[in-house]
Amino acid sequence: MAMPAHAKYVIIGAGIHGLSTAWNLAEGLKASGKGSGEDILILDKGGIAAGASGIACGVIRNNYFQPAMRELMAHSVDVWDSDPEAFSYHQVGYMQISAECMRDDVRSIYEQQQAIGYESTFIEGAGETDTYMKNVFSDWQATGVTSVLHEKRGGFANNTAAMYGLATKAENLGVRIMSGVTVTGLISDDGSDAIKAVETDRGTIGCDEVVVALGPWVKSVWDMLDLPKTVDIKGADGAMHTDIPMWRYWALEEGTLGIDPNIQKTNDGGMPPVIHVDSDAPLLSDVDGSLITDELWGIYYKPDFNFGGIQGGAMPYPVKKDADEVEVDPYGVESPEFIVDDNFAHMWCSALAFCQKRFEGMIKHYKDEPSGGIGCFTPDSFPVFDRFRENVYIVADSNHGYKMIGVGKLVAEELLGQPSALLKPFSFGRYARGELHPVSNSPFPWS
Ligand SMILES: Cc1cc2nc3c(=O)[nH]c(=O)nc-3n(C[C@H](O)[C@H](O)[C@H](O)COP(=O)(O)OP(=O)(O)OC[C@H]3O[C@@H](n4cnc5c(N)ncnc54)[C@H](O)[C@@H]3O)c2cc1C
Repeated sequence: MAMPAHAKYVIIGAGIHGLSTAWNLAEGLKASGKGSGEDILILDKGGIAAGASGIACGVIRNNYFQPAMRELMAHSVDVWDSDPEAFSYHQVGYMQISAECMRDDVRSIYEQQQAIGYESTFIEGAGETDTYMKNVFSDWQATGVTSVLHEKRGGFANNTAAMYGLATKAENLGVRIMSGVTVTGLISDDGSDAIKAVETDRGTIGCDEVVVALGPWVKSVWDMLDLPKTVDIKGADGAMHTDIPMWRYWALEEGTLGIDPNIQKTNDGGMPPVIHVDSDAPLLSDVDGSLITDELWGIYYKPDFNFGGIQGGAMPYPVKKDADEVEVDPYGVESPEFIVDDNFAHMWCSALAFCQKRFEGMIKHYKDEPSGGIGCFTPDSFPVFDRFRENVYIVADSNHGYKMIGVGKLVAEELLGQPSALLKPFSFGRYARGELHPVSNSPFPWS
């Protein structure tokens, strides 16, 4: 495809947010008579699903402790539900099985899910948890857990297939997607902050609006826009905390046990919900019985025919480097630095065996191949969805985002002049105003 000289809307990034925004913007332009999908150009230096969206585990859930996150996720689950086939979405549900220290938090999540009509069940007590889980999986044996939140909606989607489903919807409305085009700069209007053109390695494209949906690469364009490297945050006590780095990275650890996914069917022969366990019982090696950890630990897993086995992950770890020094490229499984090692396989497979007897002795089937990847996080680990430099909309999901397929719809509405109440709590200005989201006791930075 030849490089156009101008596009009304230039969207940078063909992951979940860029594609979802393009699709919904094209719909909105058509419905309002303000234009069409042909006004939208997506640029990606790789191609569709070349970033985090193409390696994500694909889990879709709503067990967020923060009311604003929960409402936003419920909106996204509606979008997943709207076309499961196109999105390669498996609505098997999701179970959060938690340690005692998380019980109150998870109960509050349950109560608020009921308040917004998000269908779930909450079970409390160690014995009750064990009985509930054994009714699903007869070999359930996890200890150190005292509650289950069973979300009846959500589940998971096949990562890349869902992106192609979104791309098809967008392209059917006239959106153009250009792969192999790297954005190298943003040119502002004389005397104004607004961006008038996007510079790429294949030429310059004039534009009216820019959407930045770059996942782990968000910092690169943030820097091109000369946005602040640090922020001041007003704490709950009213005190200002100054010079907090805007970006930091965490490494996500995931892998696959290469066994028949059917092994994880439920007692009644159905496909099971995604399982997430956070336990405070000591975790012992399934290989030699040695202690792996006696601190709170967490894992998640699901049978996945796409990955070819039982696929899942464990708690991420912070990348202990200044954000300026983190090499995002080569990304994902190509990275020499941020792929999982034997310690992950040992911990995760031992934790699977801790939860269900059927996984005992299975570590030998662990797929010894590169997996995992890094995510770029904001100062409070919650998304920033906001407009900068007058005409640049930044979708920075702080690595919450594969499940957030609905954010593109809300961003499109904002681009068309309709402010979104669901996105408002994720404005950049919340840091200075001290309008922060509550923090849970989960060992995961994104719960
Ligand atoms: C291992 C792993 C597992 C995950 N699992 C889950 C999960 O189960 N559930 C969940 O909800 N979330 C999950 N996430 C988080 C989720 O994947 C991300 O939050 C989400 O995919 C980000 O989407 P995005 O569209 O913002 O960015 P991406 O999907 O990363 O897309 C960004 C695109 O920008 C392109 N790009 C970068 N720089 C440039 C440039 N200069 N010019 C042009 N193009 C450029 C890239 O090629 C890429 O295609 C996971 C993340 C990781 C790393």
